Amino acid sequence: MKLPSFRLEAPGDNLDNLPKLEGMVVSFFPGGAIVRHDGAMLLCGIAKTFRAAEGSSPLAVGDQVTVAVTRPDQASPNLSDMDRSDGMILSRRPRRTLLARPQPRSGKRRDPHAQSACEKVIVVNMDILLIVASTSQPTFNQGLIDRFLIAAQRGEMTPILVINKTDLARPDPNISAEFIELGGEVFPCSAVNGTGIDAISDRLKGHTSVLAGASGVGKSTIINAIIPNAQAATNPVRVKDNRGRHTTAAAVVYDLPAGGMIVDTPGIRELEVRLDPAQLPWFFPEFQPFALKCRFNNCTHTHEPGCEVIRAFEAGEISSRRYKGYLRLREDIIAAKGRR
Ligand code: GDP
Ligand code: ZN
Repeated sequence: MKLPSFRLEAPGDNLDNLPKLEGMVVSFFPGGAIVRHDGAMLLCGIAKTFRAAEGSSPLAVGDQVTVAVTRPDQASPNLSDMDRSDGMILSRRPRRTLLARPQPRSGKRRDPHAQSACEKVIVVNMDILLIVASTSQPTFNQGLIDRFLIAAQRGEMTPILVINKTDLARPDPNISAEFIELGGEVFPCSAVNGTGIDAISDRLKGHTSVLAGASGVGKSTIINAIIPNAQAATNPVRVKDNRGRHTTAAAVVYDLPAGGMIVDTPGIRELEVRLDPAQLPWFFPEFQPFALKCRFNNCTHTHEPGCEVIRAFEAGEISSRRYKGYLRLREDIIAAKGRR
């Protein structure tokens, strides 16, 4: 299988006269993208006139694009024919939200479409970051939740925490209370016995959500519980380059029965937080009132005398789980910096 070769835009081709449609990018590769429209997948090239806003990646999963349909007669529901071209992408809408992850600076694997030299856009235009965790098996991973909370804050998405497997153990009420205090919403559920599933469906209805969470917490089981025919609706698409290597694993888009969608995208699993350690406390908003009163204004809240954050933690005014999470994340960030 090889990358599509687009026969279009020979001199004289006029895209203006072609029918247009709007769709969502589910995968992209050098020179083209797979655009989803009305459940169908269109293999598209990028028009020469396409211009992305300065300094931003041209296309990402979740982008809303306008496509000039080139050969509607040949549009086919499967993508086995990678030589075909269904359309040309003319433009994309401005992005509402953006989830990015840092990526290595090493030149070789650098993504030419990246937002900046060290960020790779994972997905755009999602309203909700749907974080799935479980009460046990695997045990609740607070570190992961802290990271996703930061990603949601940076990307302006609403964080929603689903605590699955309530049939195995009771969710820790402190975890939920903390998450809610930080601006999130919490939905306990059991995907195997159906408890809480309707409430999740209701909340996600009409929204675009991106799925996150450790392996084994029950993400697939939840999707199948929310969407009875999810298997049928899934469209995993993998594009191979001419060496047969996977260049881009496409996002899987699940349409919700009552409108909206859940996007499961591979990049999210490696989400890492790349921040200046000095900025990290900003993403722990509950520390702010105390941090303002620390003796040193460059206090790292790790060891300093006169640190009000440490005092608040010791007095139980700041959650010890969150304070310890802060310390761990800070160490991870510093260690990751050292490796670069
Ligand atoms: P994913 O890796 O997050 O997609 O997790 P899966 O959906 O594949 O689920 C991992 C395992 O957990 C499977 O064996 C599921 O049957 C099981 N599982 C999922 N949801 C629940 C639940 O609510 N309760 C229990 N007891 N097991 C569950
Ligand atoms: Zn301090």
